[in-house]
Amino acid sequence: MIRRVVRLLLAVVMVASAAVAVTVTTASTAQADGCYTWGRTLSQGATGEDVRQLQIRVSGYPEYGEELAIDGEYGPLTAAAVTRFQEAYGLPADGVAGPRTFDQIYALQDDDCTPIHFTYSELNDCNSDWSGGAVSASTAQANALVNMWKLEAMRHALGDAPINVSSGFRSYDCNSAAGGSSTSRHLYGDAVDLTGSHSLCTLVQRARYHGFSEILGPGYSGHDDHAHLAHDPSPYWSAPSCGI
Ligand code: ZN
Repeated sequence: MIRRVVRLLLAVVMVASAAVAVTVTTASTAQADGCYTWGRTLSQGATGEDVRQLQIRVSGYPEYGEELAIDGEYGPLTAAAVTRFQEAYGLPADGVAGPRTFDQIYALQDDDCTPIHFTYSELNDCNSDWSGGAVSASTAQANALVNMWKLEAMRHALGDAPINVSSGFRSYDCNSAAGGSSTSRHLYGDAVDLTGSHSLCTLVQRARYHGFSEILGPGYSGHDDHAHLAHDPSPYWSAPSCGI
């Protein structure tokens, strides 16, 4: 009897999941058309804005401990990142970005080119126009977009459980109010503080696979209650309580 109930429950869950999957795919494909559409297959040797747009989307799939350059040039490191992205989503992994790869990206992005699980407003806890930081508003926003795609990759690798962003871009005023360092990467828009359903150590350890070069967490001064992930020209990891 119990076994039959379990089997029945499983069947219900499977039908429900299938219905959700169909809905999500349909909605996302439509939304993606309003964002960015690739017009050709891309492979090593290609250059251009379409390559740069692709690099933003696969920036969360660099080599361990590295960052992918977003320079519009499809070299071996970009091909390797595309291969890891394809593997992560069960696609044929050949490092060539064609229709199936682009369809997967379309399914993962919203109308404003942010990945479906993160938003610009979530990454800006200061003001609505991204001004007042260490870089121009447009640069701060562009940096935040790259970070969102890195977070989307990390979220997927951690089993698709939610990741909560507790702080992102800060103007100088906002950074002072938050007690941030005067050289904080939050002023550039390329830092995020995380809390959420994973342990902080899981977050800081996993972040090293997804293109974050500045990682601070438990055991590092002021970081016992969140994980800080950022791009940093001088890479630095420290979370002594997590063995980093
Ligand atoms: Zn931080």
